[in-house]
Amino acid sequence: MNAEILAVGTELLLGQIVNTNAQFLASQLALYGIDVHYQGVVGDNPKRILEMLDIAAKRSDIILLTGGLGPTVDDLTRDMVAEHVGRQLAVDPALLQELQSFFQSRGRVMPPNNKKQALRIEGADVLPNPRGTAPGQYVHTNQTHYFLLPGPPTEMRPMFLESVVPFLQRLQGEETIYSKVLRMVGIGESAMEEQVRDILQAQTNPTIAPYASEGECSLRITAKAASMEAAKSLIEPCEQQLRERLGAYMYGMDDDTLAIAVGQLLMEKQQQMAVAESCTGGLLGMMMTEAPGSSRYFSGGCITYSNDLKRQLLSVSEDTLRIHGAVSPECAREMASGLHARTNADVCVSITGIAGPEGGSAEKPIGLVYIGLFYNGITNVRQLQLRGDRNQIRIRSAKQALEFVWH
Ligand code: ATP
Ligand code: MG
Repeated sequence: MNAEILAVGTELLLGQIVNTNAQFLASQLALYGIDVHYQGVVGDNPKRILEMLDIAAKRSDIILLTGGLGPTVDDLTRDMVAEHVGRQLAVDPALLQELQSFFQSRGRVMPPNNKKQALRIEGADVLPNPRGTAPGQYVHTNQTHYFLLPGPPTEMRPMFLESVVPFLQRLQGEETIYSKVLRMVGIGESAMEEQVRDILQAQTNPTIAPYASEGECSLRITAKAASMEAAKSLIEPCEQQLRERLGAYMYGMDDDTLAIAVGQLLMEKQQQMAVAESCTGGLLGMMMTEAPGSSRYFSGGCITYSNDLKRQLLSVSEDTLRIHGAVSPECAREMASGLHARTNADVCVSITGIAGPEGGSAEKPIGLVYIGLFYNGITNVRQLQLRGDRNQIRIRSAKQALEFVWH
């Protein structure tokens, strides 16, 4: 089975919105072992939507469309798919009833336009949309399976997970697909791949796919088998092999984040962490508080963006700021130890650096970041030279600080 994703909407073509639906669907389909061979974007234009459908139907088994299911005249997806497969559209009384109660439950009268959303393509299955007014539809012809999904990601994503996945699993036959993600820091994607290339190449089931994102990388192991247990037992020896080589970098699995891994470590040691941030402006604190229950290990911190606040709140010395500047190992050290003096937290982390795009110099280029770590009475400082734009440098700085703590 191979699939094609077709996003409908002129806003996408104009670059007014980013096609996150395609990204979501592509990564999900990979998870279920369905190859995506093509992705397309088309505006709200009947002729061009039809053209795209004709092309897609010739080359793909599954076509997932997003967008254009709304009540307005530029919402054309339903009509165009009906025309493409040569079937009628008719008001589905059950759908109409649901739409009316959707509006009723919100104390509103249904605008006449919305009646359009009760139109169902002959022979289509309805994919319920409890979060909005546009129900999805599943249509299949002898050759092709069509899924019509709404544009808003908050409606499309749950509809995919709740209604499309069961269809896909049926289409895949009795096979179960199970995957596990091993998450790593402190190693780059290519170095990671190099260390396990032979394993990666030798595997067919499970397959292993490397990924990289801001400051970390991962391996996704995906197995196909007759049952979940069988799939898991295929994954296990493979995971073991990977752990033997890369275990030192692995901080977690699946939905774990580095901040959660750090939190667990702190909880095991019954310690509290505090942060003093300059160029990251609170990003590290945000990451540390993402998980519920983080108050058990995170006490808080301060955003000391100006030299004045570094002095006032963290007792960074006048001399350090004058002689070495705010972006210096000395300043990072004093920020971390000053934070400990103020908070008495067991682990105190500081970040100071140049995120750009202005403020770099030959001596202190953009991306120069110092991370201070106070722990057990000693403050260590790490120097980083990060690449990327302002946003990337900030995210990478915070991740590197987490990695520093984790190691
Ligand atoms: P509505 O009932 O809101 O009109 P719809 O199914 O007709 O839904 P569209 O009108 O195409 O969908 O898009 C509605 C909104 O959904 C867009 O303004 C945009 O915010 C979001 N959206 C649409 N397509 C995508 C996409 N491919 N990726 C991310 N967001 C999208
Ligand atoms: Mg719309």
